[in-house]
Amino acid sequence: MRGWAAIILLMLPLVAVGQSARVEGVRVWEAPDNVRIVFDVSGPIEHSVFKLDGPDRIVVDITDAVARNLPATGINGGLVRNVRTGVRNGTDVRVVLDLSGPAQPRSFLLRPNDRYGHRLVIDLAPAQAQVRQAAVTRSAPTALRDLVIAIDAGHGGEDPGAVGPSGLHEKEVTLQIARRLARLVEAEYGMQAVLTRTGDYYVDRSERINRARAARADLFVSIHADAFTDPRAHGSSVYTLSERGATSEAARLLAERENAADLIGGVRLNDKDDMLASVLLDLSQTGVIGASRTVGAAVLEQLHQVGRVHKREVQAANFLVLKAPDVPSILVETAFISNPTEEGRLRDANHQQVLAQAVMGGIRAYFTDHAPPTTLVAVNGIGGGQRGGVPHVIARGETLSHIARRYNVSIQQLRSSNNIASDRIRVGDTLLIPSA
Ligand SMILES: [Zn+2]
Repeated sequence: MRGWAAIILLMLPLVAVGQSARVEGVRVWEAPDNVRIVFDVSGPIEHSVFKLDGPDRIVVDITDAVARNLPATGINGGLVRNVRTGVRNGTDVRVVLDLSGPAQPRSFLLRPNDRYGHRLVIDLAPAQAQVRQAAVTRSAPTALRDLVIAIDAGHGGEDPGAVGPSGLHEKEVTLQIARRLARLVEAEYGMQAVLTRTGDYYVDRSERINRARAARADLFVSIHADAFTDPRAHGSSVYTLSERGATSEAARLLAERENAADLIGGVRLNDKDDMLASVLLDLSQTGVIGASRTVGAAVLEQLHQVGRVHKREVQAANFLVLKAPDVPSILVETAFISNPTEEGRLRDANHQQVLAQAVMGGIRAYFTDHAPPTTLVAVNGIGGGQRGGVPHVIARGETLSHIARRYNVSIQQLRSSNNIASDRIRVGDTLLIPSA
């Protein structure tokens, strides 16, 4: 009997430790308007989160858990300064996040998926959220507007997307190509770019769409890199939304995989309903889908000119990120990251630029015929066309010097580009404003 008791006593601590959840790692993802902190945990956990000030801290208590040598990644002098762990009440883990300012926490648990196990997610919204609106600002006001191109770098943060044979992450490639494309768009007459993400953090799909819509985008281009079990699969593809069904089984599987991004990246809970509402709001999506197909074909044509395409036709499938009800939207699978040769090209800056230029060429081709009438491109053509200048209708009380100041050009430039010798101008006349 004695022997048995000793064994049982010895076993008890082991059993207790075995049942405790282990906190195995923590990743911090800093975005411009929020911070996501992700804990890997060994199983379902109970937790509580609260905030303290003076100095600002977030405290996360995880019931019946252990955390040893918790490795933290992604701390880079942003909102989260430091992550400390300790034992509380003998059996609980207390994690303290030292912050550089006040923030409102929100937390939720994520179930395992094919990439991660159980996770605890804490989202922090900075108190004075300097939420960088996707602001549509021009150096000077005009009656006619720029075309706005929303560029969406797929994946990010917790969600690496597809991973190439030598370890290249799709999320890195998509951001690099998206940035290159944004620079090309910005350099284009009468166009401006809005990036749905600008760093290595996750943005869920409804937020990506919301950012495009808030910027009143004329086009939404989502950049991705494809993956397939057969490493020989290669070439670029362009996709549009289909709610009826996919053009092929491969397209359906791809859409399924891309749509799963929110499960991996960690979806935010309260955005879903807004999204659903906005989709239901406008069921006349067919016009937008038609426009998406047209721009998709123009982009595919350009990609075909610079390299191999996977499919000659624009493909369609139920991609949730393409569901803005009022913005023509395409998804570009730039190449197969699962193909060792194409993975190498995707990593190459020159090839990234070639891909960005091809997409830009397609955008240009599309808006040659399809720019909305109130845009500079519709009036003056792609690249500013023959007239070369921003038209300005002279209002009551305006003088040449006033207009020159407003557009940041000299009076001399104004005079010469409009063939006027004096300072006399007439209300209602149109001046062409040269580029500064
Ligand atoms: Zn992707």
